[in-house]
Amino acid sequence: MAATVKNLIGGEWVDARSGATMDSINPATEEIVAVVPKSGPDDVKAAVAAAKAAYHPWRLTPAPRRGEILYRVGQILTERKEALARLMTQEMGKVIAEARGDVQEAIDMAFYMGGEGRRLLGYTAPVELPNKFGMALRDSVGVVGLITPWNFPIAIPSWKSLPALVAGNTVVFKPASDTPNLGVEFARVFHDARLPPGVFNVITGPGGSVGNAIVNDPEVKVISFTGSTEIGYSLYAEAARYGKKVSLELGGKNAIIVMDDANFDLAVEAILWSAFGTTGQRCTATSRLIVQKGIAPRLTEALAARAKKLTLGYGLDASVDVGPLVNEGARKTVHSYVEIGKGEGARLLCGGKPADKDKGFFYEVTIFDQVKPDMRIAQEEIFGPVLSIIECGTLEEAIEINNNTAFGLSSSIFTENVTAAFRAIRDLSTGIVYINHGTIGAEIQFPFGGTRGTGNGMREAGQTALDTFTEWKAVYVDYSGRLQRAQIDTDAILGEE
Ligand code: NAP
Repeated sequence: MAATVKNLIGGEWVDARSGATMDSINPATEEIVAVVPKSGPDDVKAAVAAAKAAYHPWRLTPAPRRGEILYRVGQILTERKEALARLMTQEMGKVIAEARGDVQEAIDMAFYMGGEGRRLLGYTAPVELPNKFGMALRDSVGVVGLITPWNFPIAIPSWKSLPALVAGNTVVFKPASDTPNLGVEFARVFHDARLPPGVFNVITGPGGSVGNAIVNDPEVKVISFTGSTEIGYSLYAEAARYGKKVSLELGGKNAIIVMDDANFDLAVEAILWSAFGTTGQRCTATSRLIVQKGIAPRLTEALAARAKKLTLGYGLDASVDVGPLVNEGARKTVHSYVEIGKGEGARLLCGGKPADKDKGFFYEVTIFDQVKPDMRIAQEEIFGPVLSIIECGTLEEAIEINNNTAFGLSSSIFTENVTAAFRAIRDLSTGIVYINHGTIGAEIQFPFGGTRGTGNGMREAGQTALDTFTEWKAVYVDYSGRLQRAQIDTDAILGEE
């Protein structure tokens, strides 16, 4: 039976003011998972007002107390891990083992950011005048707007909300319309952890109205967005009109480089996991394989043989390797890229068409070889189970191919040569680099994000996440009892000594 869920505004569970609803669909069975509010700008206004009213009391709550609530959030997420993971498989299709990993990331982030309640480190530095003290503190910003995609429906909202909250901000959160039920269940965790009313608000509804209203509300001081480059850039321009701080985490076109000396079996496992895990719908998914000529024929053959054996199906069955695409639109996009690849002269090794199933948005695992670096399938984000194999001669050539796309999120190299590994670390121009591991598998204590069209220089996770949700405040305390002029009186004071 489909669940009926509500927005959380000011601590109350409420319908959209218009009463309108929309359905969330299971991409494996095409059944309705939940009926959720189809909210609009009025609902956003109410949520922003609630977040604004809650801001000052929350900001004045000592950070260690805020951190303790985050520990409770981590505890509740741990208790609900299996239920949330099953709901995730139902609502967006990723297989159950990966859904559990998605929730685990939020648990890790809750405990990590809970600890920030007793850190939120600033710094002191020596000052140039006597009887004077200087320090730099992190300060909260105000109401923050969080807009997230469907592919990590618990993890990504946690990357944004937990650092925002521990730093003393209040939140208005809009989940993707493919995973609104999970967005509401995430909000329920905060509600049940007894976060004060209004500190965390969730509103479900279309990006064009709800997301746009959040971006254009002057009371929302920070926008943290993860999604497509096209939408991200357009809301960046909108938000600039108000001088808002914006964090963008956008698309990827990630590559694994395999050198002739690589550990062959390890590379095969990692490529399959990185290219076809989450049905290729990770921002860090491997969509290009850059392989040195000597190892290319054997690797290509092994990958095609193994890919054909991957089981497609409903991810609640633990034996399934690959779930469906998120919706019919995504399946059409993937198929259009397959046709583009064939038209460009790449050779289709396996897959290349919708899977033969009665229900669900399944697409066969697909591999092309004979791909040239400038083909569209090697340059544009497909966001599906499609891998393009590109041959190269040298390490330098491999790195150049890797770096030459509009995106810069994750890259990886397989080699047993330490010199090659360190040269790759130096020269791969992505925000994340892996050695002898695929392009997926980031941990929450390190910065997450990318260069070029993948973002705007901000990073999520780790200490860097706090930069999005805090302002630096420089504080000078002069206890000399007289006017001391920085840069001017320094020489005189030295003379006195
Ligand atoms: P999307 O279409 O850009 O949507 C992302 C979010 O923006 C959704 O909540 C969407 O709402 C909302 N939105 C749509 N139009 C809007 C508007 N005009 N104003 C404000 N918000 C608006 O992206 P997606 O298809 O959900 O996600 C896939 C993309 O996310 C891929 O490009 C992937 O690479 C990227 N991604 C990046 C990272 C990273 O960290 N770099 C991580 C994960 C995913 P609706 O759902 O209601 O349309």
